[in-house]
Amino acid sequence: MSAQIPLDNILAIEHLLSDDEKLARDTLRDWIRERYRPLLNEAHRNGTFPVEIIPEIAELGVFGANIEGYDCAGMNNVSYGLVMQELERGDSGLRSLVSVQGALVMYPIFAFGSEEQRQKYLPKLARGELIGCFGLTEPMAGSDPGSMRTTGRKDGDAYVLDGVKAWITSSPIADVAVVWAKCVDEDNKIRGFLVERDFGGVSTPDIEGKFSLRASPTGEIHLNECRVPLDNILEGSGGLKSPLSCLTQARYGIGWGVIGAATDCYQTVLDYGLERIQFDQPIASFQLYQNNLAEMATKIINMSLLALHYGRLKDSGSLSPIQVSMLKRYNVGSARKIASDARAMLGGIGITDAYSVMRHMMNLESVYTYEGTHEIHTLAIGRALTGISAFD
Ligand SMILES: Cc1cc2nc3c(=O)[nH]c(=O)nc-3n(C[C@H](O)[C@H](O)[C@H](O)COP(=O)(O)OP(=O)(O)OC[C@H]3O[C@@H](n4cnc5c(N)ncnc54)[C@H](O)[C@@H]3O)c2cc1C
Repeated sequence: MSAQIPLDNILAIEHLLSDDEKLARDTLRDWIRERYRPLLNEAHRNGTFPVEIIPEIAELGVFGANIEGYDCAGMNNVSYGLVMQELERGDSGLRSLVSVQGALVMYPIFAFGSEEQRQKYLPKLARGELIGCFGLTEPMAGSDPGSMRTTGRKDGDAYVLDGVKAWITSSPIADVAVVWAKCVDEDNKIRGFLVERDFGGVSTPDIEGKFSLRASPTGEIHLNECRVPLDNILEGSGGLKSPLSCLTQARYGIGWGVIGAATDCYQTVLDYGLERIQFDQPIASFQLYQNNLAEMATKIINMSLLALHYGRLKDSGSLSPIQVSMLKRYNVGSARKIASDARAMLGGIGITDAYSVMRHMMNLESVYTYEGTHEIHTLAIGRALTGISAFD
């Protein structure tokens, strides 16, 4: 036997992180292990999210963590990324809830809302007193959100919204939705609206039968002549670039988050392989097993370095959407491969929830598809590299 070297020592980025960044990471890592993990298997089996834990999540300062003011934690973007990583080490469903709340609900209010809207909504969202969701996708408009059919029409003191939003994270438990609609009075310009659950004409049915993100509520938003007060339009929004800029924020967090899921899979199969004996030897002693571990470790190091580099660029204000596409595509694709290989390395027990791996594997199928599918990011990168668009 020779000495085992922890992956963190090979990655060797501790000296590149500030004390605040390490504190954010370690606080979340402990909380996930002590408070969230014990709730997770039952939530996953039942296909529910443990809503009773929301006040505690809010206490951690993770909702809108990289927003300044309005009762938000005002973390830098590397701390925010490390928080996402630790949340997803627990479960992609929990990270999705926090991503949506911060990047897809609080960010558009912060970026496109009036000062009154910010004051009204952001502190309550930060404290978890309101839960939000983001309605862009529709049954007939997924990868091509510009083809959305939901409309907004001005009528006296309100906009009247009609349409159906599909695949909406947190919609079944949300108090407020950022809904994107085409304004028929403004040449079908896409605008954002803050729709409260009790406005009338709003329902949010669950999507049943999910094998992925089971501990995250996913639903639809049905808008049937829903009257939204004029005060609830996001005045600063206009055109498809507004919702896309929110997605850029969320994808940045996803790029970090999946490092957590991948690392949990890696650590699980490393520990398992050292203990599980077959052919009178630990299975980690076999070359094929070690090959998988080496591939996983290399991917996790690449993922972490990419995230940290782009995090520093984001903090300096120079991160571009194409770099975020690169981060989302590379890190999620790598995490998906790691989870799938890890599942096989656990053998039969790997298909149960005795280990976290199959849950991560199933979750990462959603993460691969949402926030721009892997294929759409491939095309975006291809367009940037060649200057030729293959998809619009
Ligand atoms: C669990 C979950 C949660 C979600 N949460 C939200 C949310 O909170 N808010 C929200 O608005 N949306 C949400 N989504 C929706 C998600 O963003 C969409 O599912 C995604 O954009 C893909 O759209 P689609 O499912 O309609 O697939 P489609 O667009 O129909 O794509 C089907 C397949 O065709 C491929 N494809 C499409 N166009 C091209 C092309 N030009 N070239 C090559 N391949 C192409 C895609 O890559 C994919 O493989 C969520 C989805 C899931 C699964």
